[in-house]
Amino acid sequence: MHVLVINCGSSSVKYVLLQSQTEAIVASGRVERVRELPGGFQEALQQVLASLGDAPVEAVGHRVVHGGERFTAPVRVTDEVVEGIQACVPLAPLHNPSNLAGIEAARAVWPDLPHVAVFDTAFHYHLPRRARTYALDAEVAASAGIRRYGFHGMSHAFVAHQAAAWLETPLADLRLIVCHLGNGASVCAVEAGHSVETSMGMTPLEGLVMGTRSGDIDPGVVLELVRRHGGDVEAVDALLNQRSGLLGLSGVSNDLRDIEERAAAGDERCRAAISVFAHRVRKYIGAYAAVMGGVDAVILTGGIGENGAAMRQRLLQRFEYLGLRFSEERNADARVSREARVADISARNSRVRALVIATDEEIMIAREAAKVAQGAQEIRSLRPIPVAVSARHVHVTEATFHKLFGPDAQLTERRPLSQPGQFAAEQVVTLVGPRRRLENVRILGPFRSKDQVEISRTDEFHLGVDAPVRLSGQTAGSAPITLEGPAGSVALTEGLICAWRHIHMTPEDAEAYGVHHNDEVEVAVSGHGRGLVFRDVVIRVDPSFKLEMHIDTDEANAADLPQHSEGALVGVEGAEGTLQRRRTPSVP
Ligand code: ADP
Repeated sequence: MHVLVINCGSSSVKYVLLQSQTEAIVASGRVERVRELPGGFQEALQQVLASLGDAPVEAVGHRVVHGGERFTAPVRVTDEVVEGIQACVPLAPLHNPSNLAGIEAARAVWPDLPHVAVFDTAFHYHLPRRARTYALDAEVAASAGIRRYGFHGMSHAFVAHQAAAWLETPLADLRLIVCHLGNGASVCAVEAGHSVETSMGMTPLEGLVMGTRSGDIDPGVVLELVRRHGGDVEAVDALLNQRSGLLGLSGVSNDLRDIEERAAAGDERCRAAISVFAHRVRKYIGAYAAVMGGVDAVILTGGIGENGAAMRQRLLQRFEYLGLRFSEERNADARVSREARVADISARNSRVRALVIATDEEIMIAREAAKVAQGAQEIRSLRPIPVAVSARHVHVTEATFHKLFGPDAQLTERRPLSQPGQFAAEQVVTLVGPRRRLENVRILGPFRSKDQVEISRTDEFHLGVDAPVRLSGQTAGSAPITLEGPAGSVALTEGLICAWRHIHMTPEDAEAYGVHHNDEVEVAVSGHGRGLVFRDVVIRVDPSFKLEMHIDTDEANAADLPQHSEGALVGVEGAEGTLQRRRTPSVP
């Protein structure tokens, strides 16, 4: 499919016509000084139309910076969607109006084509509550939509997928720190393919030092600036967004190349700009390794990440304590491009890879737009999927079992579970958290090779621990917990997880549904009177499995599910992490 990708900024329109499968560029260009054109964006897009000649266009993909809480995935543009994007303007007053003007103009120029809006914020919709919440009065925050949203989603997602392909490891098994360092800059912690932390917040002003934006700043400074400017909020906005960052620090330029040149010639302000910039990025890398309990690769992208070898060297020195050994030679030689996307700049014996990757937001937008436009949106409900609610439970090794119940104890079956060979045991243990205890937590048999404790978010709060959301079996680097049995207690250093919702199925089922092991899907489930869609449901395929979706008690309660409910598969996330089929289904 030929997709025209349009990116309307405050003063320019960038466009690329891409073939969505081959990713070949058919045409590209830029219209500058749009605001000075008498016909504004419409005139600019007429120019784009003219420059395309007879090049085929089958769909239009629009970059939209802020999707707010409403848009968590690409959508086909309708009048209602335009209103929704309009409603997000207060959250992104600098960006959304231009994006919208571009969409309206393009719909007038190409009235018969499908238009798809793709959002910079969407990749971050998984941000856990602890990462997306500002410590403000909760009511004030909720009423104004004040929370962290994150940006640069297309770039972080694209680069994460490139990294996974290059590392030949599924995204589900990776913890990545992606540093997008361009004029705008943000860091993203990508765990199992999802953004779990990112440095930009409600607006693209938070986080790193950028070309002209301050990034993180004491809110007290903002208040003081407002006072000093006699309450002129717009003036302070302009100061923080347009005259700070590298430009403000250096006093000469927002372009790192200029700054590096002057720093080399002895300019102190330029030297300070470089070191403040680098320090901030390093701080985030360390923080995000802490957030994910480790890291498998650190990725640099964007104009500075892809080209700034000297800056890369500053950024990645002295991370041996994290297992990252940087290679000066490889860094100096690293060149990335559309053809050679990835360069490894870590030393051969480095446990953590350091990668330079050429980002490509347009390809990502084209892929997403093509999928939505192609619109294979039928509900793929071949046969309903039974939904089972899993209560908190414990899997143990034989050794752990004997420490808890004594050397002569036997693990005995109380009742079989629906998955063949699995059973709920007679034996229960107590989970001991730093805050409180949870008693009578059942052991599930048979014995496993690793100890694993699966709890819900509510349990987490009760115990006073933070557990990562993981698939069963992925316990490396998960949270510690103490188990208590009648004969003794065992302090696990890891093994506590919140289970990722998943569907068990056989290879035959997977084939029938058109999904693969580790795919993520959306499942519409009917509750008492109201249905809802569970996103991020992971497919687990094994010949021994029986078709069943597992959710935890919190999720079941939130959905108000009856005892025996069923789900229908309504969307599949493809290998590139984008949804191939999606719609809001009418749930029976
Ligand atoms: P945008 O966010 O506007 O897309 P880019 O990703 O193109 O920005 O990044 C622009 C930044 O990349 C500028 O600060 C520029 O100085 C920097 N950059 C480009 N090439 C180099 C280089 N060779 N060395 C250092 N910085 C570079």
